[in-house]
Amino acid sequence: MGGALQKQYVAMDCRFESGCDETGKVKVSRCPVLVPYLAFADDIIIFSNGTKSSLMRITNFLAEYEQYSGQKVNSSKNGFILSARASLSRASVVSGALGFHRIRLPTKYLGMLLYNGPNKSFLWDDLISRIAARMEGWEAKVLSPGGHITILKSILTSMPLYLLHVIMPPKSVMCRIERLFNKFLWSSKGQKRIHWECWEDLCYPVEEGGLGMRRLQDLVNAMSLKLWWQFRTVNNLWSNFMNCKYGYNSASFSGGASVHDSPIWKRLSKAGRACEDLIRWKVGCGKINFWHDIWVDDSALSKYSSPIGESHLPVSFYWRSNACTRVDHPLWSLTAHGGFTMYSAWNTVRQVSVHQSIFSKIWHASIPLKISFFIWRLLKNFVPVDTRIQGKGICMVSKCYGCNDIESLEHLFLFCPSVTHVWNFFAAMFSVSLPVDGSIRHWLSAWFFSGDYVYAGHIRIILPLFVLWFIWLERNDAKHRNMSFYPDRIHWKCQGKIFQLFQAGLLKKRNWKGDMKMASFFGCHYVLDQVYSSKIVRWIKPKEHCFKLNVDGSFQRNSAMAGGGGILRDWHGNVNFFFFLPLKAKSALHAEILSLYHGLNISKDRGIGRVWIEMDALSVINLVQNHCIGSWKVCYSLQGIYDCLNFFQFYLTHIYREGNQVADHLAALGSKAANLHIGSSLDDFPSLRGLIKTDKLNLPYFHHSFI
Ligand SMILES: [Zn+2]
Repeated sequence: MGGALQKQYVAMDCRFESGCDETGKVKVSRCPVLVPYLAFADDIIIFSNGTKSSLMRITNFLAEYEQYSGQKVNSSKNGFILSARASLSRASVVSGALGFHRIRLPTKYLGMLLYNGPNKSFLWDDLISRIAARMEGWEAKVLSPGGHITILKSILTSMPLYLLHVIMPPKSVMCRIERLFNKFLWSSKGQKRIHWECWEDLCYPVEEGGLGMRRLQDLVNAMSLKLWWQFRTVNNLWSNFMNCKYGYNSASFSGGASVHDSPIWKRLSKAGRACEDLIRWKVGCGKINFWHDIWVDDSALSKYSSPIGESHLPVSFYWRSNACTRVDHPLWSLTAHGGFTMYSAWNTVRQVSVHQSIFSKIWHASIPLKISFFIWRLLKNFVPVDTRIQGKGICMVSKCYGCNDIESLEHLFLFCPSVTHVWNFFAAMFSVSLPVDGSIRHWLSAWFFSGDYVYAGHIRIILPLFVLWFIWLERNDAKHRNMSFYPDRIHWKCQGKIFQLFQAGLLKKRNWKGDMKMASFFGCHYVLDQVYSSKIVRWIKPKEHCFKLNVDGSFQRNSAMAGGGGILRDWHGNVNFFFFLPLKAKSALHAEILSLYHGLNISKDRGIGRVWIEMDALSVINLVQNHCIGSWKVCYSLQGIYDCLNFFQFYLTHIYREGNQVADHLAALGSKAANLHIGSSLDDFPSLRGLIKTDKLNLPYFHHSFI
């Protein structure tokens, strides 16, 4: 946690404490953590009970400080804070003793408000006016809608973030800020425009049909989870202070706080229950609670059975781990590395909508943001064509500038005779069969799902988006600038734009995959070098008196069938043993880890000392080499591997899948087997015999890949 934040949290809590001991330190009832002062950079808060003697001590201390450091304390820049009820005479006594003036709450500490009493919305006026001022500055500049999105995402929404970490604003404040954001998004050159969608509906990821914005309430909730995670897992001034002041006990924690508790504690305990369900504990010395902390499977033991005996007892009381020198390690269940991330927290507290692949395809680095935004509006029917404006209750005559018909969304963009030949031209070129009627969505789907290689940024996605965009520009030029509607111009502009992207290096060879022969029509000429590369892969024998262990795991997502297998061979390439077994794995990674674990365990039992381990799962190699703890799902299996490896002199390397075929074959056998098989005779496994012979003779395998 940042030093400043930590201090702010403590400051928030300390101001409620009036009891100070005789040395002037803040004394929290039953609390051995004393906070006499808070210092960060050049900001210092000293706590005192205000008696004459303690004021004397402070002045003496400051005088001493001046003497030793050679610096002067500027009394006009310092102040003291008294309770609002303190009398004037009391204030003048303190002021006389210190030579400082009185400061009244609310005041600022490291950019954050210190206030007393309820969290009123006027306390936030300063922040809101700062955001509004920043927006005015941006609005005055000519920005494309894409620019508005970028600024919203990168600057404006991050302005209140720092404060949200420390204090929760009232709902009305968040509402005011979000209204400002929405106004900024839809405005153009400072003019008011139609707000096509409310902020709430924009706050979904792009693949769920939103604009990827985040709601402030969701951010506040995610930060509350972070706060609890830090309270439980980090050992620092703040967490110690809070622990002493409020005391946390897994057994008795109910998630409630009393009226007199500080706002931070109220916020913490509200988030606590939900957050505890997301924290897992890898047992070390076993200090965590046996019944209420989650240390096996995915829920606390108390969920399965009501506690037998006393519920506050630690794990070590019942179960002695052989790793009692290690600390209990917290893991965040939502990430692969077991650490906390704001994204994972936000993703779990936010509202989730349906995944729509058509929306996910329109946002890509190769597509200018303003065009993506326009297509998004088109798909949502947020484009002011005549019929749409009429639908809003505004009386007007409709005229299509291409053919004088009525201008509806589908007519203008898809079926107007003047644009159909542009569409037909490109559709014929890419052999796309366009629907005879339907909506923009149908039309785009016809393009997006027309080829085998169409993924994000592919030409079959980019091209129809450009056609739609340039139809819109052509229509606006005709309507507002009295130019004639000229379909061929749409055609040229699309070609030109694609060439522009190519020149800017945004359209690579892979964006044309499957349609490479069309690239030259758009003027995009690529150097056609070798597309495939093939590498020779060999299984190499280990050095004399060293053994080689090849392992592999197999995992089928659909049937969740998993198996593992491996083989240990000596320096002549002869089989020492091979094994395969069915696994209870939760993922492909887990299957690989378990196979390695079993391979090592069997080798250990057979008294092997030196071993060269080879596998094709690069992620497992990285995890093991860096001694990572891993996610909750795999942390115990990984620990098993680390414990096992202590018995070996080993090294661990990667081999391409093609060279690891024996282990691969064994893993496949494992997923069909009923239980563990260990053997060294190949009599029942003729298919293995050939593969092992190939390895022994050092014959090559070929590994193919795309460049
Ligand atoms: Zn028309």
